[in-house]
Amino acid sequence: MTTLVFLEHHEGELLKPSLGVLSKAASLGGDVAGVIVGSGVEGLAEQAGVYGAGTVYVADDARLETPLPQPRVDVLAQVVQAGGFDNVFLAQSILGADVAAGLAARLDAGLNWQLTDVRADGDGLVGTQPVLADTVVCEVGWTSTPRIALFRAGALDAKETGGQATVETVQPDLQDFSLAAEMLEQAHEEASGPSIEDADIIVAGGRGLGGPEGFGPREELAEALGGAVAATRAVVDAGWYPYSAQIGQTGKTVSPKLYVALGISGAIQHKVGMQSSGTIVAINKDPNAPIFEFSDLGVVGDLHEIVPKLTELVAARKGS
Ligand SMILES: Cc1cc2nc3c(=O)[nH]c(=O)nc-3n(C[C@H](O)[C@H](O)[C@H](O)COP(=O)(O)OP(=O)(O)OC[C@H]3O[C@@H](n4cnc5c(N)ncnc54)[C@H](O)[C@@H]3O)c2cc1C
Repeated sequence: MTTLVFLEHHEGELLKPSLGVLSKAASLGGDVAGVIVGSGVEGLAEQAGVYGAGTVYVADDARLETPLPQPRVDVLAQVVQAGGFDNVFLAQSILGADVAAGLAARLDAGLNWQLTDVRADGDGLVGTQPVLADTVVCEVGWTSTPRIALFRAGALDAKETGGQATVETVQPDLQDFSLAAEMLEQAHEEASGPSIEDADIIVAGGRGLGGPEGFGPREELAEALGGAVAATRAVVDAGWYPYSAQIGQTGKTVSPKLYVALGISGAIQHKVGMQSSGTIVAINKDPNAPIFEFSDLGVVGDLHEIVPKLTELVAARKGS
């Protein structure tokens, strides 16, 4: 079995969700290759080898500098057609989803998306896909090759294998229509501390914070712990925090080592985005809140009293 993994990158780093997908591909066995598309990206190939790619195809071209999907579809189609790959795996992101859909159309191939896992089954693959608001988990397959699979970001862990990849340079053969769109400007969100996707510690706030002003103490706790801040949909819908911080079914899927949930009830749509966290700590004033059913440590009480004291304690421990 041969698998090609689209490796998304940002500011000189391969993104963790892509490395998770690469690690999963490597664990299935067979030949695993990565493809890196961009401008000035050759140096990233080494990283891909460490996470299990035997070969890395690098398309390094000034026309590929901006993260537009269609030129990437051209490169992937070119690599798949030349290499005869059985599977193409991508991590879900705005770019990854666009590229996967474009590639499926270009190659007339089947695409399964929102997968949380995949396993080998003889010569084929079986994907795991949560459906119906994540209340049911289905097994899905493909009827033809290449099998294109789009995995939820954060669903798969990136594991180093210490390998080394052979680098193959790709001369991109870009279609005129793929170059018709031009990106005029890229804006970067101002953020401090680690991103939600990469953080080992996440402090998440729910409606129990009481309003946007409740985010101050929560941010201080996150800072003391060296973690990132996140939120429930109720909170972002209310405009208390940006949408980019939303965890859950219609937000991001994360699996940090520690997830601290403050004033979060634990609705199923939130749970699916964070249930694979290493240790879940919940603070909620309602002893019957559903979050306590899947927390490792539950504190029943008013977060406005507990959080400042907890922050003080963490800061004191760090200082000592
Ligand atoms: C199709 C669909 C998709 C959705 N997608 C998402 C998603 O991606 N992410 C998501 O999060 N939600 C999602 N939701 C919404 C979800 O169903 C819940 O409504 C939401 O998660 C609730 O957010 P919350 O826990 O902040 O608020 P609430 O459910 O209102 O919970 C607030 C909690 O705070 C506690 N509390 C209040 N005051 C205090 C205090 N002083 N100290 C301690 N605890 C206190 C309360 O006891 C309560 O348990 C989705 C819903 C639908 C229908």
